[in-house]
Order: sequence, then C-alpha cells, then structure tokens
Amino acid sequence: MAGKLVGKVAIITGASSGIGEATAIALAAEGAQVAIAARRSDRLNAVAERIQASGGKALPIVADITDETQAKNLVEKANAQLGRVDIVVNNAGIALMGTIDGGDTSDWRRSFDLNVLGLLYVTHAALPLLKAQKSGHIVNISSVAGRTARAGVGIYNATKWGVNALSEALRQEVFRDNIRVTIIEPGLVDTQIDDHITDPIAKQRIQERRRSITPLQSEDIAAAILYAVTQPPRVNVNEILIRPIEQEN
Ligand code: NDP
Repeated sequence: MAGKLVGKVAIITGASSGIGEATAIALAAEGAQVAIAARRSDRLNAVAERIQASGGKALPIVADITDETQAKNLVEKANAQLGRVDIVVNNAGIALMGTIDGGDTSDWRRSFDLNVLGLLYVTHAALPLLKAQKSGHIVNISSVAGRTARAGVGIYNATKWGVNALSEALRQEVFRDNIRVTIIEPGLVDTQIDDHITDPIAKQRIQERRRSITPLQSEDIAAAILYAVTQPPRVNVNEILIRPIEQEN
C-alpha cells in the first residue's frame, strides 16, 4: 500500500466509534498500521475488519484506559505485535455535562479518570519507546471546551483545559527528543458522545444545541489529525481548533 504513513504504527484510543474510528480508518488508508483500542470488542473488531478489507492493517486491543495496567498493556501489545510505535492519538473521552452545583460527583471522577488520567497513562507508557527511537507524535484530543467555559459544562471544561495544559508542558519536555505534540480542539461533532450523560436536563440541552446547527462529522476531525501527523519532520502543528461553521462559541 502506498501512502504518507507507510512504515508508521499508530495507537488510537477510543477507536470503537466516532472520531477515533474515523481516525483509525484515515490513518490506515495512508498506510499506517493501527492499534485500535476501546472497551467494546465487537465494535473494535468491526472497525479492524473494515480496515483490513480495504487493504490496511489493524490490531484491535480491548483496554479500559482508566486502569493504568491496561493502558500500559495496550502500548506494550501494540509495540510487540506491530514492531514499533510512532503516533499515539489520545482520543478516548467522555463529555458528562451538568452544573457543578448539585452535580454528580461520580461523573466528575469518571471524567477526570478518562479524559485526563487515561490520556496520561497511555502517554506515560508510550514515551519511553518514542524517546528511545528519537521520534514520535502524541496527538491529544481536547475540545473547544478546552478553550471556552460554559455554564453546565464546567467539569468537562476542566478536563479539556487540563489536556491543553499538560499537552503544552509535554511539548516543552520532549521536543528535544524529536517528539511532536499536537492538540486537536473540535467543536460539535455528530457522534455517540451524548449517550453517556447522566443528567437528563444537561443531556437535552446539549442534544438540542447539536441539532440546532449542522455539526462536524468525525471524518472532519480525522482529516485534521491526518494533516498534523503527515507534515514534514521540521513541522510541529501545536494546536488545531475546528468548529462547525454555524457554531458561535
Ligand atoms: P464517542 O462516544 O463516539 O467515542 C468515545 C470513545 O472512547 C469510544 O470509542 C469509547 O469506546 C471510548 N472509551 C470510553 N471510555 C473508555 C475507557 N474507559 N477506556 C477506553 N476507551 C474508552 O465520542 P467522540 O468520538 O465524540 O469522542 C472522542 C473524543 O472527542 C473525546 O475525547 C471527546 O471529548 C472529544 N470531543 C468530541 C466532541 C463531540 O462533539 N463529539 C467535541 C469535542 C471533543 P468504548 O465505549 O468501546 O470503550
């Protein structure tokens, strides 16, 4: 297979649906071997079969990345079975909306466990490999919510603000090892992400907001990620903020 990513291995978390699934397909179409991770094995296998049917190579790895051991095993398995790791797309995330006042504190823990700690566990496990080979690219999926706070979105805002902060700190820590760090900040994207919201009022509000405009498609974000990871080695795309044209803030 010809393509800009031939010879590269990418790990994509949260690849069983939405942006992660589209990113796995886009990177594989450019020749990357992709290790695709999530908890739902049936969906992961379906994504892997689709990639393989198009001539690509995909390795499904079932992992709950909020568990540090599973996150570490994911990276080790990808490296052992695909031979190296070049790109890590830290995409798995949840957007549990709701006000802070009266909020469900178990939602808060789930949010930070996945959006911040899960991302860090995978990154922590991958960095020694990238440093040893003196190259690599970490792509962290943040959000417009990492730049603009809204009432009723505070916890999600805090997790994605955290992703932006740790990403910039990491960029400064590892650029001398020739490791690139990119933050992707999507606006509203048409995915399953609202399904997990436990607060019915918050769920209705975001669904109405999403329906009031033409949202982005997962493929739009995959294209932005593909752009970042296919630039010449001298280029580090630090941040991409991408909203639907109709999204005001
Ligand atoms: P989806 O719900 O479609 O995808 C989320 C993915 O994360 C799924 O593959 C899910 O798989 C995986 N996941 C959830 N929990 C875990 C876990 N504990 N361990 C491993 N994987 C897990 O949503 P999106 O595609 O929309 O979201 C992807 C990213 O994009 C998130 O970081 C989100 O914050 C961000 N984003 C989304 C926006 C939107 O409007 N949709 C806007 C801005 C940012 P499984 O359940 O099988 O584990």
